[in-house]
Amino acid sequence: MQKISNRVQALAVSQTLAMSQKSAELRAAGTDVINMSVGEPDFNTPEHIKEAAVKAIAENYTHYSPVPGYASLREAIAAKLDRENRLHYTPAQIVVGNGAKHALSNVLLATVDPGDEVVIPTPAWVSYVELVKLAGGTPVLVPSGIENDFKLTPAQLEASLTPRSRAIIICSPSNPTGSVYTREELAALVSVLEQHPEVLVIADEIYEHIRYTGTDFVSLASFDSIADRTVVINGVSKAYAMTGWRIGYCAAPAEIAKAVSKLQGQATSGVSSIAQKAAEAAYTGSQECVVEMCEAFRRRRDLIVSLARQIPGWRVNEPQGAFYLFPEVSSYFGTTDGERTVSDSSDLAMYLLEVAHVATVGGGAFGAPDYLRLSYATSDENIVKAMERIADALKRLKKI
Ligand code: PMP
Ligand code: GLU
Repeated sequence: MQKISNRVQALAVSQTLAMSQKSAELRAAGTDVINMSVGEPDFNTPEHIKEAAVKAIAENYTHYSPVPGYASLREAIAAKLDRENRLHYTPAQIVVGNGAKHALSNVLLATVDPGDEVVIPTPAWVSYVELVKLAGGTPVLVPSGIENDFKLTPAQLEASLTPRSRAIIICSPSNPTGSVYTREELAALVSVLEQHPEVLVIADEIYEHIRYTGTDFVSLASFDSIADRTVVINGVSKAYAMTGWRIGYCAAPAEIAKAVSKLQGQATSGVSSIAQKAAEAAYTGSQECVVEMCEAFRRRRDLIVSLARQIPGWRVNEPQGAFYLFPEVSSYFGTTDGERTVSDSSDLAMYLLEVAHVATVGGGAFGAPDYLRLSYATSDENIVKAMERIADALKRLKKI
C-alpha cells in the first residue's frame, strides 16, 4: 500500500466531475443518459478561435511560453478588462493559468497560510473549500438559502470576519445558484470590507457573460476602495465554450501576480502555447458568439424554470446568470420507491441517475444539502426530456 499524503487524503473528490464521469460510463454502456451534472457549455468552440489554434501550430507556437503567459495574450486580457469592465491592469498584473480553477488554486497557494481563514458564502462551487484546505487555510462557510436568493448579506459578512480572516471568495454570477449580485448589493458588502483592510477579495467572475439581468456586469474590482486588494478570476471556458482548452487567469495586485508566477514557474510553467493563441483570438475577435450563446442559455433558463415549477414539492427561483438551476428538493428526503431509499440530495441525484437516467449533482457538494443542481447547458429537447423523466421518477417516491 502506498502512503498518500494527509493533504490529498483530506481532499474530497470533485462531485461535479465525478457525476459527469459516472454519466459518461453509463452512456458508454448503452444507457441513454442526459447529462445535467457538469457545468460546461454544450456549444463547440467558435470557428475563428479554432482556426487561430491551427495557425498557431503552423507558425510553430510550440515552444515553452513565458511563465505568466504570452505578452500578447496578457495585453489582450488587459484590453478586455479595460473595455468591458473599466479596470486598469497592466500585463504584469495578469497571470494565465491552466483554467480559472488553476488560477484560483495558484492565488490561494500564494496568499493563504495555515491558520488563515477564508470566508466562503455557500452554496459555493465545489472546489473552493477543497482548494482552501489544500493551501492549509480554514474555510469559513456562511450559508444562505433560496428565500434570500442565495446571497450573502452585509450582516452575515460582518459576523464571519475575524482577526484571522485572510480572504473571501465571491462568485457572481454564481455557480451553483445562478444568483447575480446587483451593484447595490455589492456596494453594501464592500462597505463592510472597507472596515477590514487586511482581507483579500477574490472575485470569481467566470460567468460574467452569462447573465440575464439586462444590466451591465459589475466587477468587484471596480469598487475603488477595495480595488488594490481584489483579485479577479476569469477565463475563456464559459464565455467562449472553451472548457477543454484550459485557459483562465488572475488579475491581481502586482505582488500577488509575481508570487503566483513564481509558484507557476516551479509547478507547471506557462500553459499550453496553442491554447493561449486560441484564447487571444477569443479576446480580440468578434464578441458576437458570446452574445448568441448567452441568448440560447436565457431561452433554456426560461424553459427549465417553467418545467421545474410544475414539479410538486420543488422550490425554484429564477436564476439571473450562469446555467444552473438549484431547486430546493428536501420534501423528497425520507422517501422510497420500494427498492431504493432517498435520504438526502446525493441519494436523490443517484436515484435520478439510475431511474430517470438524468445526471445531476446533490447540493451537499456545494455546502447546501437541501438542494439539487441541474446544468441546463444542453439542448431544449434534452431539457424537456430530462424534466419529464425527473417528474415521472419523482412520482414513484413515497414517504417512508
Ligand atoms: N469557477 C467557477 C465558479 C466555475 O464554475 C468553474 C467551472 N468549473 C471554474 C471556476 C473553473 O473554470 P475553468 O477551470 O474551466 O476555467
Ligand atoms: N464548473 C463546472 C461545474 O461546476 C465544471 C466542473 C468543475 O470544474 O468542477 O460543473
